[in-house]
Amino acid sequence: MYNSHDLARIAIGCLINGVFWTILYWAFFAVFHHFDIHRKYGIFKIREPEVHYRTALKNWKIPFLWGIGTSAVMALYGLKLNSPLGNTLGRQPELVFSLPPEYIFLHSPNLFTDILYGIVGFYLVDFTDYWAHRIGHRYPFMYKKFPFAHFVHHNWTFLNPLVVVSSPTLHPAVITGSAVYVFLLSQGLLLPVLFLHLVKIFSNYMSHLGCDPFPGLTRLNHRVGGWIPWIPLHHQYHHLHFTRQGNYGNLSCLWDYVFGTLIPESVYHIERGEPAPSVIARLGKPEEQLEADMGKFLQGKTGLSLR
Ligand SMILES: [Zn+2]
Ligand SMILES: [Zn+2]
Repeated sequence: MYNSHDLARIAIGCLINGVFWTILYWAFFAVFHHFDIHRKYGIFKIREPEVHYRTALKNWKIPFLWGIGTSAVMALYGLKLNSPLGNTLGRQPELVFSLPPEYIFLHSPNLFTDILYGIVGFYLVDFTDYWAHRIGHRYPFMYKKFPFAHFVHHNWTFLNPLVVVSSPTLHPAVITGSAVYVFLLSQGLLLPVLFLHLVKIFSNYMSHLGCDPFPGLTRLNHRVGGWIPWIPLHHQYHHLHFTRQGNYGNLSCLWDYVFGTLIPESVYHIERGEPAPSVIARLGKPEEQLEADMGKFLQGKTGLSLR
């Protein structure tokens, strides 16, 4: 399947991907902190504690491994990348292996059916992602054990889009999502996969924006059952360590609405346009107290020396 030249190219691609995403991760944390984005535009209008920022910078190994891991997973699934950054820049992947014609039963004759397959594929990936994420929270093996460990992604309460890459190498959601990709690609549905991948990337990074520049769109999404891929407020609540667990959707919140796993405080915020008093009580403390609380939480979670 792969010759030695391919394997060398994949290994170099994985390393470059790791370095690239680590640098971007540092840059986003620095920009958000330096320009005080969380206090000015954030969902809670609260300054990011220093200890949160410093700890995030020290956790560079996680995005580095994420960069290596995502490239490696694509290669393991037989997705040949056109560049080291191919899978994350939305380039069209090509399949290393191809199925014999008798196993191809899906056909897309025109652009309309391409878009239709793309939409169905998107909510299918959203569905597998939802359950993989939910199960990943439920079982300690999935939550705490490397390389599945989802808890490292939950170190961060103050979000920016690059928190996406602060995630373990083999998060179950990556595996299940890739399986849907491989299935659609094996049917020759390249354009639908490209379409769903672009929307997925957009939604995934926007869900970690830490701000909600379009609250009207968030309210509309709440009224129509959560299928619109715009969930920065929903996902911000998923990252709070003191609310009930829920809001597992990573691409849309459709399946949270279907299976009843919305966090009540996020619903309160969407409907009233402001955080619930219980959330303000935890986050709206004097700065030194929030620093101390956050430091205690992060020290316990990361085991890093935070001085
Ligand atoms: Zn989670
Ligand atoms: Zn997240």
